[in-house]
Amino acid sequence: MSEASVESGQGARRGPAQGLTLGDVERRLGVKDDGRPGPLVLITAGLHGNEPAGVAAARRVIAELEGRPTAGRVVALAGNLGALRRGERHGGQDLNRLWTGPILAALREQDPAADRPDEAELRELLGILEGERELARGTGREVLLLDLHSTSAGGGPFSVVPDVVASRRLARAIGLPVVLGLEQRIEGPLLTWIVGQGEVGVVLEGGQHEDPQTEGVLAHALRVALDHAGVTHTDRASARRSRAHIDTIRGGVPPVLDMVYAQPVEPGDGFVMEPGWSNFKPVCAGQALGLQQGEVVQAPIDSYMLMPLYQGLGSEGFFLCTPVGRVWLVASRVVRRLRLDLALRLLPGVRAVRRAGTGVVCSPGTSPRTESWLALFGYRTSTVDGDQVIWTRRRAG
Ligand SMILES: [Zn+2]
Repeated sequence: MSEASVESGQGARRGPAQGLTLGDVERRLGVKDDGRPGPLVLITAGLHGNEPAGVAAARRVIAELEGRPTAGRVVALAGNLGALRRGERHGGQDLNRLWTGPILAALREQDPAADRPDEAELRELLGILEGERELARGTGREVLLLDLHSTSAGGGPFSVVPDVVASRRLARAIGLPVVLGLEQRIEGPLLTWIVGQGEVGVVLEGGQHEDPQTEGVLAHALRVALDHAGVTHTDRASARRSRAHIDTIRGGVPPVLDMVYAQPVEPGDGFVMEPGWSNFKPVCAGQALGLQQGEVVQAPIDSYMLMPLYQGLGSEGFFLCTPVGRVWLVASRVVRRLRLDLALRLLPGVRAVRRAGTGVVCSPGTSPRTESWLALFGYRTSTVDGDQVIWTRRRAG
């Protein structure tokens, strides 16, 4: 998915990664369907055209499936064809920020002849994804999305999931560090749209755009995901090798982290990140992390670094993550399954819990303790409505 801060301002003029020559990119990178029951696995790659490693990884893994018996249906799609050909992030509109209700509704009303280049890509991709989902619904298949990306920042790869139990489970099976709390900060990614439809979805950030290892990391993650989904259940050896490789990549990084802090950056701030930071490097409270408006920026808490801003312009200078413990993960699964949302009324600052868990109404300025309880139940997104704040969670918690 790659935060705006990671990729903005540096994709427009950059060519494809060195050593990776994509050639002409087709929308359907590959389909594998032996007609056996099983899930529908949708693989999307290159929603950002300056991220060719995902396209190469998807092609490689689909080719590996040839001649092997598989269950279910695997469809790999390229995202922004025009931008991939040009080696640019997008053609004016970010294809991974357009998956909102209002934008998609306007697109359906619009004459296709009036589509701007990225809107035409969106229309075609949406049509294919909806067609595949429709077919899957008819046959009762589970639907999973694996959306492949890479970042400008160096450091370890990771996965991004909304805090929904089924998507968390898939991301944990893959084994890359799982980052919660990031997806809801971004407006309009494909991941949010697909999970909003009740499906399972994970974004895989395979590493730096130019790093020759990024394609391999994404291929390992795909093999493990296909094994977990039951697609390649007859031969699990390569998935086991890939999973072992991912474990060595993750090293000592906690398996699940919550993004708890973002350093805001405004144009003209003169924000400069201290050199030497990369993803998942441990951070101590009070440590100097950068300079902003001539002042030293200090870490507010003990944490782990994520996506330090070294290139281009971004709206965040860095993100900080804290580990999520096993107890929290189990407790969140249990309270969500048992639908104990009404108990949230007992928390200070909570005025009402809406029926069927569609929202929690709070007073403004809810305490961090109340917010952490709301997060346990999956309520992570807040909107201000007059003198109240409404917290909502994803469908299927
Ligand atoms: Zn991206």
